Amino acid sequence: MYQANDEATYQQSKCPVCGGQDFEWGRLGGQAYYLPSMSAWAMKGRQVIKVRRCLRCSALIPFTDPALTRQFNRLVAVIAVVAIGFAVLIAALSMFMAASSVPK
Ligand SMILES: [Zn+2]
Repeated sequence: MYQANDEATYQQSKCPVCGGQDFEWGRLGGQAYYLPSMSAWAMKGRQVIKVRRCLRCSALIPFTDPALTRQFNRLVAVIAVVAIGFAVLIAALSMFMAASSVPK
């Protein structure tokens, strides 16, 4: 039976390498994603990966994280909007500069 907190419970289960139960959580540097596809072109449905490190033997176990994924997707959307806004601003500015520097 699926329980809402199953995921969290499993993610606290013993280290399969040494049996340790003390962990710390982190992410992969240079954020990598899990993609639910074998196609080289598929970018949809990517999942942010969080990594559990065993404090006893340093074994790493990656999990995908839906909450973190939503957070990242929002961040990416904000960055995209800002980048597009910036590009439009630069284009408008360069047109203005070109128009105002016409040789007499
Ligand atoms: Zn361990």
